[in-house]
Amino acid sequence: MRFEISKVLDAIEGRVCTDPSLARAVLDLAEVIRYQDLDGGRPASLLRLGMVIDALSRELAEDSVPVYAIVHRALLSDADLTSNERMVVRRWADDGLVEVLDNPGDRMLEVADLLGLPVVSRVRFDGLRGRFPWLVEQPGRVVAPVPGAGGPAFVAHVGGGHTPVEGDRSPVGGQLLARRWRCPEPGCALFGGGGGGGAFADLARVDRAPAGQPPPGLRHGVPTCPRHGARLSDAGPRPRSEVLAIRIGGLIRRRFVLTEDEPVTVGRAPEETGGVMLGQWLNDEARRWISRAHVRFELRVGEVIVTDVSTNGSGIRPNGSMTEADRVPLAPKQSRVLGGADMVELYPGVQVGRARELPTGAAFTPTSVMAEAPTMAMRLPRN
Ligand SMILES: [Zn+2]
Repeated sequence: MRFEISKVLDAIEGRVCTDPSLARAVLDLAEVIRYQDLDGGRPASLLRLGMVIDALSRELAEDSVPVYAIVHRALLSDADLTSNERMVVRRWADDGLVEVLDNPGDRMLEVADLLGLPVVSRVRFDGLRGRFPWLVEQPGRVVAPVPGAGGPAFVAHVGGGHTPVEGDRSPVGGQLLARRWRCPEPGCALFGGGGGGGAFADLARVDRAPAGQPPPGLRHGVPTCPRHGARLSDAGPRPRSEVLAIRIGGLIRRRFVLTEDEPVTVGRAPEETGGVMLGQWLNDEARRWISRAHVRFELRVGEVIVTDVSTNGSGIRPNGSMTEADRVPLAPKQSRVLGGADMVELYPGVQVGRARELPTGAAFTPTSVMAEAPTMAMRLPRN
């Protein structure tokens, strides 16, 4: 059983990140893991984060939806969590996958504001509507998870619609995210060189990609490390990046970030570092057709270039057109600049394009991050 739980926590780990290009909602981890009525279980359970992520995934009709979690430092020693859960959260903290703060204050709303993300919370932010006008203007951006048939569902508890609305980055957010920032605190997991500090430093990952750095906090208009309260120094322009998405059978399965530093290979099971593996979503026929490494993407001077590196070749669907006559073959070894709404098609129904240009939500069910969880895991007694 312990092993099964670990597998679920590993799956959840793949859905927490502070990358401004990938996160799809912001939440307060302490609040979410204490939503006891979601499953009627222990006072605190990290598995509830998985349930909420699944709910978000269903709501957005998209697989692999990552969330931006703000973590109150006290949670790292919360006795209501199992020792395994506490260890997992500490690892996330050391790896910079979550933001750990001594005093989170309104950091959750600040992140939502800067990145234009929806907020998952049951809290009413009445006193903060002056500072964050979208709390009034886009009330659907704050959604609360409630128990529902087949897992939690979201309700907009401040009025308005029911679907988490992704707004645009605020103008200040746009400015802050155009630069890279450095924290003077050695080993800062958010704005440092990555790793180096903390009790779990040996587990810390290698350098965070500069393009994936979280948004700085703003204190009296000055970019500040939300963890250390220290003023951040400007470390130059943030590298250009483009968010691409994999769509299989009409459903977005995952997004990935392409930077000028490193090409990204997509295929059945690419061996290249940072490669995107599709094998788990493919039927036998598609698996036979699609090569281990099938297409390679590069970002050069802001242009996305796709090269077919497969045995069987691919096709381009200009402007996302699904009309067969429009499909342009992309032969093995051939390269092409991917226009704004163009998609590469590795096999019928298996497409890659810019995330903002790819509609999702075909009549397919997203894969649960909890799929590995035996039902019993949800009813485990305390510790
Ligand atoms: Zn710092």
